[in-house]
Amino acid sequence: AKAAGRNQSCFFNNEMTRELVRRKEIEAELRAAIQRDELSIYFQPLHDLETGRIRSFEALVRWFHPVKGELPPDEFIPVAEETGVIITLGNWITAQAARVCAQWPDDITVAVNLSPVQLRAPGAELGIINALKEANLDPRRLELEVTESLFIEHDENSARFIRALTEAGCTFTLDDFGTGYSSLGYINKFPFRKIKIDRSFVSGPDVGRKSNAIIRAVAEMGAALDMDIVAEGLETIEQIEKVRAAGCTLGQGYHYSRPVPEHKATELLVRDQGE
Ligand code: C2E
Ligand code: CA
Ligand code: CA
Ligand code: CA
Repeated sequence: AKAAGRNQSCFFNNEMTRELVRRKEIEAELRAAIQRDELSIYFQPLHDLETGRIRSFEALVRWFHPVKGELPPDEFIPVAEETGVIITLGNWITAQAARVCAQWPDDITVAVNLSPVQLRAPGAELGIINALKEANLDPRRLELEVTESLFIEHDENSARFIRALTEAGCTFTLDDFGTGYSSLGYINKFPFRKIKIDRSFVSGPDVGRKSNAIIRAVAEMGAALDMDIVAEGLETIEQIEKVRAAGCTLGQGYHYSRPVPEHKATELLVRDQGE
C-alpha cells in the first residue's frame, strides 16, 4: 500500500509538472502568435427567431498552431487570463471584429466575448474604445458578452468599465445564463440588453420539462424588461421551434451556421439580405 501511495503521488507530481510546462509553452507561444498571424476570428450568426434573418454575429477566436493544429479557445483563453496576455489579446480580438463589422450593413452588430480579467484591469475600457476608433465602428454596433462568474468578485473597476462603455454606446450581454451564480441581482444592477441562455438548457441530458419551463420564465422576464433572450446551441429545427415558442427572440447554433471565417460570414449575410 505504501509503494502504491508513493507511486501515486509521483504520478500526480509528474502530471502537475507536465501541466505547468504545457501552460508555460502556451503562454510564450501565445505572445508570439498574434505577430505571426496564427490567430483569426471566426463569426457565428445570430438569427431573429421570428423572421429568420441574421441580426448579428458573435466573434470567436481561433488559434491555428503551426505544429499543434487548431487549439480550442477553452484551452488557451484560461492561460491568457492567468498570465494577463488576455488584455492584449482581447483588444486585438475586438479591433479585428470591429474592423470586419464596419464593412457590413449598419443594422448588423458584432458581439465580442470579454474575460472577467479584462473588466477588472484598470483602464481596460480605453483598449476597447481605441479598437472602435481604429476600426471606425459606431460603438452602438459593438456588443460585449460577459459571463455570470465575473460578478462573484465584481469590483469598482468592472463597474467603471461597464459604465464607461455603456456611456460610449456599447451594449452588454449576459452570457451562459443559468450556469454560474444566481444572477437576478446582476440583471437588476447592470444594463444588459441581451441574455444568452446556456446551451445546456437547449440540448443534452439536462433538457426536459423543467429546463423548458425555465426557458419560458426567462423569456417572459426578457419581454417585461425589453431585453432580447438568445438561445444558443441550436442544432435542430425542433430546438429552434421549441425556443421560439417559449418566447426567445434570437437564436444561434450549428443548425443556422457554425462559426465561419470573415469571407464566409459576409457570404451568409449577402445571401440573407438577398432573400
Ligand atoms: P461561448 O461564448 O459560450 O461561445 C459559444 C461556443 O459554443 C463556441 O465555442 C461555439 O463554437 C459553440 N457553439 C455554437 N453553436 C453551437 C451548437 O449548435 N452546438 C454546440 N455543441 N456548440 C456550439 P468556441 O468557439 O469553442 O468557444 C468556446 C468558449 O471560449 C466560448 O464560449 C467563450 O467562453 C470562449 N471564447 C471564444 N472566443 C473568445 C474570445 O475571443 N475571447 C474570450 N475572452 N473568450 C472566448
Ligand atoms: Ca459568448
Ligand atoms: Ca455562451
Ligand atoms: Ca462560455
